Amino acid sequence: IIKIDGLKKSFGQNEVLKNITFSVEKNEVVAVIGPSGSGKSTMLRSLVHLEEINGGSIKIGGAYLAENGKYPKAKEIQKITAKTGMVFQHFNLFPHFSVRENLEMAPKLVKKMAKADLHRMSDDYLLKVGLSDKADAMPGSLSGGQKQRVAIARALMMRPEVLLFDEPTSALDPELTGEVLNVMKDLAKDDMTMIVVTHEMGFAKEVADRVVFMDGGEIVEQGTPAQIFDNPQHPRTQAFLSKNY
Ligand code: ATP
Ligand code: MG
Repeated sequence: IIKIDGLKKSFGQNEVLKNITFSVEKNEVVAVIGPSGSGKSTMLRSLVHLEEINGGSIKIGGAYLAENGKYPKAKEIQKITAKTGMVFQHFNLFPHFSVRENLEMAPKLVKKMAKADLHRMSDDYLLKVGLSDKADAMPGSLSGGQKQRVAIARALMMRPEVLLFDEPTSALDPELTGEVLNVMKDLAKDDMTMIVVTHEMGFAKEVADRVVFMDGGEIVEQGTPAQIFDNPQHPRTQAFLSKNY
């Protein structure tokens, strides 16, 4: 469902993504691991057009978001990025709107859905993330784990074909990470296609179908969790895991 081919991205002189090639199949859960500064966030952000790449191609659901570093018209870009949803480390909820309003805002604007349908949908997704009782709460009154579950429900409201997560638990107190990881596990069980940048090696090992190790703007090694965690081939993977796993 996603094909990335020869992706390159620089910030000024700093070549952050060198030659990223990999693909994600429908219903697959891919965990992306790697040291700080290796380009994980930049890679993910380029998939939702929060960064523009300088070279290579990104194909999502059969359509090019970028082809040889060139982008189509804004309307086409919007059509393609509508297939993806993103969950950030810092939730990015709108603080002056209730949980329900946070969920309904984008689909109301973009899909012009009827109010009753929007309500039904937000009820469904709040139930899914275990927050049925928080529909009218303001984000400021929620714990970090609850905020992140709202952010996941909000992303689901747009019915994305792929969900991208950028370190969804790293801003959380350790006792709150479990509730967020459990929601993500449920999504994986429901066959949601996901790319998860994470430092949670336990989650990657348990839930991911495939693990991608990035270092220095390159994919150094990828494979099943067993291959990567129990039998890493590349010295850089071995060094990273000996410190982080
Ligand atoms: P972390 O694990 O710390 O989140 P990461 O693997 O997500 O790291 P990126 O955030 O993708 O890494 O950053 C990769 C490199 O790109 C870093 O050297 C960073 O300083 C640089 N970089 C990222 N965003 C920008 C930007 N907007 N402008 C300039 N440089 C940037
Ligand atoms: Mg990052």
